[in-house]
Amino acid sequence: MKLALLDRDGVINVDRPDSVKSKEEFSLLPGVITAIKLLNEASIPVAIVTNQAVVGRGILSPEGLKGIHDYLEDLLKAEGAFLDRIYVCSSADPEDPRRKPNPGLLLDALTDFKVSPEEAIVVGDDLRDLQAAGAIGCSRVLVKTGKGAENLRKGLPSSVLPVHIFDDLYQAVFCLLNEQIC
Ligand SMILES: [Mg+2]
Repeated sequence: MKLALLDRDGVINVDRPDSVKSKEEFSLLPGVITAIKLLNEASIPVAIVTNQAVVGRGILSPEGLKGIHDYLEDLLKAEGAFLDRIYVCSSADPEDPRRKPNPGLLLDALTDFKVSPEEAIVVGDDLRDLQAAGAIGCSRVLVKTGKGAENLRKGLPSSVLPVHIFDDLYQAVFCLLNEQIC
């Protein structure tokens, strides 16, 4: 594993049906800071890849989104952890090549970090995360946080298999680093 690409809502922070629109609505999931710190210490670049159609729909301004991400980076920094990059697709257009389940955002990250798809792992709670990763051959992890448990109950389509399944980001990172399953 040479690059960890993490979905945001439901993986890093508590998802909200009406989207996270302010830092007051942004609440980290347990173990996330530790998980990112483990990746930092292993010298594995870590980036967020997130759909934020809430911006494209005009509900949240780009500055508002930046404020939320600055807040996240401050929370991480306070514990000695950091993100290498945050990739955002603000478009609400399902045809946008960067909007997951389309893989454009992931491809941007692979290009920037100069890693091949099979060297990257994508962690998500939503089928569209797994579909985007599967479309270009990245390894896939589903976490049970966010929409993950519900997706698992409904059954995963064969098109996204194989997929590694973990309770949350911390368990995923711990196992990936210690068992080298990726
Ligand atoms: Mg999500």
